[in-house]
Amino acid sequence: MEAREMTTRRKVKSDTLQSRIKGEVLGPGDAGYDDARRVWNAMIDRHPTVIVRCAEAADVAPAIAFARQSGLELSIRGGGHHIAGHSVSDGGLMIDFSRLKNVWVDSRTRRAYVQPGVTLGEFDGAVQAHALATPVGINSTTGIAGLTLGGGFGWLTREYGMTIDNLVAADVVAASGEALRASEQDHPDLFWALRGGGGNFGVVTQFEFKLHPVGPSVFAGLMVFPFREAKQVLTQYREFVESAPAKLNVWAVLRQAPPLPFLPPAVHGAEVVVLAVFFAGNARDGERIIQPLRRFGNVLGEHVGPMLYTQWQQAFDPLLTPGFRNYWKSHNFTQISDGALDTIIEFAGKLPSPHCEIFVGLLAGAANDVPSAATAYSARDAKFVINVHGRWENAEQDDDGIRWSRAFFQAATPYASSGAYVNFMTDDEGERVAAAYGANYARLLEIKQRYDPENIFHLNQNISVPQQARRSRTQRRSA
Ligand SMILES: Cc1cc2nc3c(=O)[nH]c(=O)nc-3n(C[C@H](O)[C@H](O)[C@H](O)COP(=O)(O)OP(=O)(O)OC[C@H]3O[C@@H](n4cnc5c(N)ncnc54)[C@H](O)[C@@H]3O)c2cc1C
Repeated sequence: MEAREMTTRRKVKSDTLQSRIKGEVLGPGDAGYDDARRVWNAMIDRHPTVIVRCAEAADVAPAIAFARQSGLELSIRGGGHHIAGHSVSDGGLMIDFSRLKNVWVDSRTRRAYVQPGVTLGEFDGAVQAHALATPVGINSTTGIAGLTLGGGFGWLTREYGMTIDNLVAADVVAASGEALRASEQDHPDLFWALRGGGGNFGVVTQFEFKLHPVGPSVFAGLMVFPFREAKQVLTQYREFVESAPAKLNVWAVLRQAPPLPFLPPAVHGAEVVVLAVFFAGNARDGERIIQPLRRFGNVLGEHVGPMLYTQWQQAFDPLLTPGFRNYWKSHNFTQISDGALDTIIEFAGKLPSPHCEIFVGLLAGAANDVPSAATAYSARDAKFVINVHGRWENAEQDDDGIRWSRAFFQAATPYASSGAYVNFMTDDEGERVAAAYGANYARLLEIKQRYDPENIFHLNQNISVPQQARRSRTQRRSA
C-alpha cells in the first residue's frame, strides 16, 4: 500500500476515534505529541501512533476499543515515571491522563477522590490544605496512578503502611470496556489484584484514599557524614531504626554530595553518607528523638528542622529531574546484614557517574503488619528496600552505568529477602515478575484470566500465562 494511502486511512480512523471522545487524539507532528510521549527516563524514546489525551473517564472505553480494533498495543500513562517506560510504546496507542488532575477531599470522612493524572505534589498540596496526608513516594513529580498500582511507599509508610493499604476503592475500565468499581465489597478479587498488581487488570479512572492527620509542619532534613565513616554510620543506623518510633523515618543515601548550601564547598562532589530524616510530629520531640544520629560520626553538615510537609515532599526533586538516563536495580531486605552493608559500601565507592546513588529505604512498621496474602503486593516481611540508582547524562555512559548497577545487584543478592518491588523494575526484568509476587502469583494469574484474558494490558510488569508472555514479547519486538 502506498505510504500516502496508509496515512490517509490512519487519519480517517483517528478522526473516527476523535468523534467518540471529548479529549484529543494526537499523532506524530501534532502540537503536544512530543510532550505527551516523553517520559521521565531519557533512555526511553518511543513514538506511539496514537495518543488519546483523555478529558474525562468516559474517553477510556472508546480508546480501548479503538486499540483493539486497530491492533495497536495499548499503553497507559499516569505520571510517566516508571523506570521501564511501559507507559509509551513504538507504534501503539497511549492513553494519556495528563489532563485528569482533580483531587476532591472530604475532610469530614478523611477521604480523597483522585484522578489518574495527578502527581504526588498535586495530591499532597490538595490534601494538606486540610492538614491530611496518606503515604506516597518521595518525588513530587511521580504519578499517583502508577505508584499506587505497584504498591507505593514513602516517609509515612512506617506509620500508615503502603499507599495500597490506604486505598479504599478504585473506578476501573476493564479490557471489555465495562466500567467497574473495585473495593472490599465490589469486585473484591479485582480490588485485591489492583493493590500491587500494576496496570495488569484495567484502566483506573479514579482512586479513593484514606487520609490521616499529618502536619502541615513536620520535622525533617538531612545529615551528612564522610564516606570513610560509612561502616560505622550504617552499623549504628541499622541498630537505631530497630527501635525507632513509627513516626520517625530515616533513609540512608550514599552518593556524591550535591552543592547544598549547608555543606562546606570542599565537601561538594565528595562521596558522602546522607541520613534523610523525617519525623511526623512536633520539633521538640523530633529534636530529642534524632539526637543520637549526630553521634554516628563526624557530621559534615546538617539541615534539619521544622518545615512544611509539602516542602519535604519536594526536597529530593532537584536530584530527580527528568532528562537523565536512568537504570535501577533493587532488592528487599528483612535486615541489613554485615555482608549487605559491605556490598553497599564497596559499590558506593565506585560510582560510575556523579548522579548515581545507592539508597536504603526504610519500610519497617505498619506495612509489615498486613498479611502477605491480603493484597497482591506480597513482600510484607520487607523492612528495607535498597535501590541502586544508576543515573547519567549521555548514551556513551550507558554501558558503564548498567554494568555497575547489575554488578551491585548480583553482589547484594545473597543478602536479600524474597519478592521484589515492581515499581522499581526495569524492562529487562520480566522474568522476575513471578518471583516478585511470590505465593500470590497464582491468584494473580487467575484474576488476570478473568478480567483481561487476551492480555490487552501487557505493557507493564506483566502477569501472564507463559504463552501470552511469549506473544507479548514477540509483539513488542516486531512493533
Ligand atoms: C524519581 C522517582 C522517584 C520515585 N520514588 C518512589 C518512592 O519514593 N516510592 C515508591 O513507591 N515509588 C517510587 N518511584 C517509583 C514509582 O512508584 C513508579 O515509577 C510508578 O510507576 C510511577 O507512576 P507513574 O504514574 O508516574 O508512572 P507511569 O510510567 O505513567 O505508569 C507506570 C505504569 O503504571 C500503569 N498505570 C499508570 N496509570 C494507570 C492507570 N490509570 N490505570 C492502570 N494502569 C496505570 C501502567 O502499566 C504504566 O505503564 C519513583 C520513581 C521515580 C522515577
